[in-house]
Amino acid sequence: MPHQAPAQTRQFADLIGNTPLIYLRGVSEMTGCHIYGKAEFLNPGGSVKDRTALGIVRAAESSGELQPGGTIVEGTAGNTGIGLTLLANSLGYKSVVVMPQSLSKEKIELLDLYGADLRLVKATSYDDPNHYIHTAERLAKELSAKDPNGVVWARQFDNTANRDIHYQTTGAEIWEQTNGKVDGFICAVGTGGTLAGTAMALRERNSDIKIGIADPQGSALFNHYVNGELKAEGRSIAEGIGISFVTGNLEGIDIDMPFQISDAEALPHIFDILRHEGLCLGGSSAVNIAGAVRMAKEMGPGHTLVTILCDYGDRYKSKLYNPVYLEQVDLPVPNWLRV
Ligand code: PMP
Repeated sequence: MPHQAPAQTRQFADLIGNTPLIYLRGVSEMTGCHIYGKAEFLNPGGSVKDRTALGIVRAAESSGELQPGGTIVEGTAGNTGIGLTLLANSLGYKSVVVMPQSLSKEKIELLDLYGADLRLVKATSYDDPNHYIHTAERLAKELSAKDPNGVVWARQFDNTANRDIHYQTTGAEIWEQTNGKVDGFICAVGTGGTLAGTAMALRERNSDIKIGIADPQGSALFNHYVNGELKAEGRSIAEGIGISFVTGNLEGIDIDMPFQISDAEALPHIFDILRHEGLCLGGSSAVNIAGAVRMAKEMGPGHTLVTILCDYGDRYKSKLYNPVYLEQVDLPVPNWLRV
């Protein structure tokens, strides 16, 4: 007889979402606002992108595109690949992950360990045909010609199953967890799934809620939302965020408050939070928190703002928390991190 699991046990997919909101004490005291971070690093694959992986896989199953034993191909900055690979393992699919080789070695090692068919490509601009997103699309076509079980390209940038899952889960959870007492939401954009889906869910419940974007340097969205020009300046070491085009997931979403955030402004927040609040966060969380601080200062004291704590810092130990690397890229090194 097949094993009957007791009702209260769970599988990988059931562990995704329902993450807690964490009160960020330092930045709240500094601004006089209540700033909360949604603890997405607690998802089973360790990042906010587990939700995207689940949304895309469930949509592809429902449409019949993804069949038992099928393969999911995706171009990713790593976290979507990690989520998709672990989810694929648990549901009997295979995963092929295309990512730029410049990304953190910790994420590359994890993907290898988890069993992704990993294809590293050179980091190039989006208009290069060998950019990781175009490579993933091409590869999905090539592989599908040979694979009788079918191959699906996840298309997380334009596939709105990505923002839909954030609409259904992340946004709804934030509303419940704040008892509807939320004045603003802000985060950075990789695909825009988190920002768009959460914004849609919150605005549907209260159209006065302000939506902000924390755009890292090297991304074109800040200029786009300020003056309609897709233009990028500078660069950022935060992985998984920053984009040179308006994705399908971002289409139709109005942004009330755009902010451009430098790494030098962002990183001290995660250094302080590690030492004083016990969370070791990744670089995109740093940009998000810096964005929330700017939004709080602009809105004034007394407001409740929510942002996303996308993943954990151990995924970037060799970069964000490495004094030698930080010095090489001219970023501030906290004294306690110096060797
Ligand atoms: N932070 C990290 C660490 C990520 O990997 C990503 C996804 N690329 C994001 C933030 C951005 O999320 P989204 O794709 O929903 O815009």
